[in-house]
Amino acid sequence: MSAHIYDTPEVQDFLRLASGLDQSGGNPRTKQIVHRILSDLFKTIEDLEITSDEYWAGVAYLNRLGASSEAGLLSPGLGFDRFLDMRMDAEDKAQGVQNGTPRTIEGPLYVAGAPVAQGYARLDDGSDKEGQPLIMHGVVRGADGKPLAGAKVEVWHANTKGFYSHFDPTGEQQPFNMRRTIITDAQGQYKFQSIVPKGYGCPPDGPTQGLLNELGRHGNRPAHIHFFVTADGHRKLTTQINIDGDPLVFDDFAYATREGLVPPLVERTDAQSMQAQGLSEPFAEIVFDITLSALVNGVDNQIVDRPRLAA
Ligand code: FE
Repeated sequence: MSAHIYDTPEVQDFLRLASGLDQSGGNPRTKQIVHRILSDLFKTIEDLEITSDEYWAGVAYLNRLGASSEAGLLSPGLGFDRFLDMRMDAEDKAQGVQNGTPRTIEGPLYVAGAPVAQGYARLDDGSDKEGQPLIMHGVVRGADGKPLAGAKVEVWHANTKGFYSHFDPTGEQQPFNMRRTIITDAQGQYKFQSIVPKGYGCPPDGPTQGLLNELGRHGNRPAHIHFFVTADGHRKLTTQINIDGDPLVFDDFAYATREGLVPPLVERTDAQSMQAQGLSEPFAEIVFDITLSALVNGVDNQIVDRPRLAA
């Protein structure tokens, strides 16, 4: 079947009708977006001669995606999160806004309300016996390069099974395990002890991995640690660091890896280093300084307000 009806007045009128453009009520922005997306999809159906069977397979897929709460996982997998970041970077470039530490995607697994600590926190509760101890620290600087005391460093990461507290299907983790908010000290420093996380993959039988299989792509992420960093007079930074040496560092299904976000991981095995950290076993050390960007005309012009879990 190769009928070409998309450009007919009948179909174009129908698109306006279905998008509510002939109605006075509703939300104009929603109408604008729906009209565009519907138009693009109608055209795709026609151009690619999408069959009814293919269309209904797509509808069933969306139902599976929602039922498994994986829309927030498919989103980075298809590169939408990275594309939004690319657009924000381009906006900054056009406005001459300097970014210090690069932004990268938030991911769907942040939880608001983590315990707050001053300067230093222990993130893990010691229950993950597979975990190599990790000491990570650095200085948070403002746009002028000066250390920022009182900056808020929110950090969250997975355990060695690749699971996050509050989203752990095994139910093994306590609330807020491997999640803390650390306030930088008078020298702008933050520091934490935790374990080196492992990478993770999409649920193997889920709809996200199902689509990735159709695309011939894997659904795995390298090991990484997430951050939100906020301070007065600065824009909120959303970023992640990758664990150096992970084989997938530059092959992330969620496209979060960026130049400047893979700090070296140094293995500390000598007694003096261990003693200095109060540890009795070898550990990994990561030093990562963070530089924030200034407000633009007094506001955070790129703050992202998205639905997030709070506990
Ligand atoms: Fe993550």
